[in-house]
Amino acid sequence: MKTLKDLFEHQLKDLFSAESQLIDALPKVANKASDSKLKKAFENHLEETKEQKKRLQEICDELEISPKGETCKAMKGLISETESFIEEAGNNEIMDAGLIAEAQRIEHYEIAGYGTAVRYAKELGYDNIASKLQKTLDEEYDANGKLNKLAENKLNKKAVS
Ligand code: ZN
Ligand code: FE
Ligand code: FE
Ligand code: FE
Repeated sequence: MKTLKDLFEHQLKDLFSAESQLIDALPKVANKASDSKLKKAFENHLEETKEQKKRLQEICDELEISPKGETCKAMKGLISETESFIEEAGNNEIMDAGLIAEAQRIEHYEIAGYGTAVRYAKELGYDNIASKLQKTLDEEYDANGKLNKLAENKLNKKAVS
């Protein structure tokens, strides 16, 4: 990689891999959630994630590159950590609180990735692409915010007792 454009394309592929892995992993996470609002939040975010992957495909089409060819190792690690946690959770309350903790790590990782991608797109003069990426970035913030509210309102307290 020699130019910001090369680096930008690398970031897009990394995000595409991350979203693809999440589409495979989120159904299991939703399935393990007991609280109905938490389950719904995961299911909603799965649908959003499918759209986010499509957006990346559209962006790569526009740039005439393939979105494939990278594995996001960080997302692989985050998902593997989530799977290990699922094996260790001893009851429903701990499961829900821990799923939120794992999912928030994932959302923060995506927020970092899309924040960078939006900035690169702007610097490269791709305004249309920047606004597409911004839309996803907003959804990732929103998903994280919803998880925050669920944790604060109820699920962490339930897990205390
Ligand atoms: Zn990479
Ligand atoms: Fe995402
Ligand atoms: Fe990555
Ligand atoms: Fe997300």
